[in-house]
Amino acid sequence: ISAKELVQFYLDRINKYDDKLKSFVSINEDALSQAEKIDVKRRNGEKLPPMAGIPIALKDNMVTKGLRTTCSSHILENFDPVYDGTVAKQLKEEGFIILGKLNMDEFAMGSSCESSYFGKTKNPWDTERVPGGSSGGAAAAVSARLIPASLGSDTGGSIRQPASFCGIAGFKPTYGRVSRFGLVAFASSLDQIGPMTWNVQDSVELMKIIGKHDHHDSTSASKNSFEPYDKKLDNLKGIKIGVPEEYFKEGLSPEVEASVKDAIKHLESLGAEIINIRMPHTDYAVAVYYILATAEASSNLARYDGVRYGYRAEAENLSEMYVKTRSEGFGDEVKRRIMLGTYVLSAGYYDAYYLKAQRVRTLIKNDFLDAFAKVDAIVAPTSPTTAFKIGEKVEDPLSMYLSDIFTLSLNLFGGCGISVPCGFDSNNLPIGLQILGNYFDEAKILEIADCYQ
Ligand code: GLN
Repeated sequence: ISAKELVQFYLDRINKYDDKLKSFVSINEDALSQAEKIDVKRRNGEKLPPMAGIPIALKDNMVTKGLRTTCSSHILENFDPVYDGTVAKQLKEEGFIILGKLNMDEFAMGSSCESSYFGKTKNPWDTERVPGGSSGGAAAAVSARLIPASLGSDTGGSIRQPASFCGIAGFKPTYGRVSRFGLVAFASSLDQIGPMTWNVQDSVELMKIIGKHDHHDSTSASKNSFEPYDKKLDNLKGIKIGVPEEYFKEGLSPEVEASVKDAIKHLESLGAEIINIRMPHTDYAVAVYYILATAEASSNLARYDGVRYGYRAEAENLSEMYVKTRSEGFGDEVKRRIMLGTYVLSAGYYDAYYLKAQRVRTLIKNDFLDAFAKVDAIVAPTSPTTAFKIGEKVEDPLSMYLSDIFTLSLNLFGGCGISVPCGFDSNNLPIGLQILGNYFDEAKILEIADCYQ
């Protein structure tokens, strides 16, 4: 099969199904001609990278030259980047064809893909339900086989939770493993790009390409590149897996709990030693995350002022232009976060909220370090429920924030983690199992997940 045929195959599927799913924000109009060029090179006997001609798509917060990058926001609706971010560049160098950009919650703020300016993405398993978020388009498109793989970003669970809702694998690498150069910033101390794929092995293949040091990102780890494991394990003998009591509490749906407990039994039958552990500061994660993430967001989003780039409102004078641009350009959830973040950073409140939250972040981090002194990996449900109905939580931001209760802590710690499918509930909706690891333990976590799968 030629690259052109492959690209055409996926474009046809997108044309056929994406009217209903709305997982794409933009399609690359040059994809077919880019594929043709690869076919010509191949016919001429030129040496091509192994992935040459494979289509992929990116969440729309990763900048791509020649393809608008909107963050699913009105304020960046017509933003046409003049450069490729590092991941886009790395994929293109490996011959991938970026087929398009995927829908998300506006500026990655959300858990359901409902805050997008471009409309709501639907869950392919039940189109009355959300695909999860914020990388909802990236999960839905992969799940519906509209694309073989995608990249999402995870600030508090935005790769793992939608992967779980859509029944695919979603991997958040260690903070600093994948370059954030060209990733539109939400909360810079938490954001991380990672693969969303049909299976674990495809995530490993993508990590080989994007898991590298990058001098354009000052927080990029100077450690060696990601080194994949040698071959698929057929058992987990010698692996210690921790099960934290705090992740199996009220609020967890009984069906999710049963399925995750079965998965733990399966890990045990593969030879892993299961150890009950405690992570005593887990209950503070939601509060700490929503102070720190909003604080960072309020600062990062100050750049959208209508002057430098993006949407600019008509106005009589400069201050009116700022106010109108931001009032018209941002949606409600983004405004809510900016207000919260500005509040916790303001004089008089900084010590009580921001500083305190930073201190509790360290306690949460220490919970993980204590755990990883005893175990190789931690397992938990990815989300307390399966995909919820569209509209169910939009009026109640707190209940939306709680849907990330099991994913946020990992970002506060900075380690790596994957969500893999582990079963279905009685509505035939996928359930996700989360496998979490220490800093730079990507290979081990992926190896365990691959063996489980
Ligand atoms: N749902 C969380 C939030 O709304 C996490 C988002 C993310 O990981 N980008 O902030």
